[in-house]
Amino acid sequence: MKKAVFLDRDGVLCEDTDYVTSFEKFHIFPWAKEAVDIIHQKGYMAIVVTNQSAIARGMMTEALLLEMNDYLKEQTGVDDIFYCPHLPPDEKEIKPYRIFCNCRKPLTGMIDKASEKYKIDLTESYMIGDREKDIEMGRCAGVTSVLVGEASTEKWNLLEAIKEKVK
Ligand SMILES: [Zn+2]
Repeated sequence: MKKAVFLDRDGVLCEDTDYVTSFEKFHIFPWAKEAVDIIHQKGYMAIVVTNQSAIARGMMTEALLLEMNDYLKEQTGVDDIFYCPHLPPDEKEIKPYRIFCNCRKPLTGMIDKASEKYKIDLTESYMIGDREKDIEMGRCAGVTSVLVGEASTEKWNLLEAIKEKVK
């Protein structure tokens, strides 16, 4: 079985510029590729799991997100990207994105889908994120969670977290 490091996108691999709805707002951190390289060297897949509700909010098309996904793969070498484009239903319904899904973090749908697709041993895997919902998803999915960035009380940056915490 494979093992993986699941990575949040905004605030972890790129700047969290509120809603990243265009290439102009999509600033991949200069160290993101090195982070992914280290993950690969340690024998893990690098898989992005990201909530992108800007799609359900009508702020961005899914087609544009797919272009950004290709760019992120090309720039960093991540193996795959899973995203949640949804929000719960409301009166400003943008079909088909306003649903009660199972993939919006902290729900575990994206990790479940990835582990099924690649046969990943979750007990040997990690979730790295900068928000409590990332950590909660990791806990619920049965992977080891690591908090980085501004929300981290340990103030570790991504590279240090990967070097120190991922075995
Ligand atoms: Zn979803």
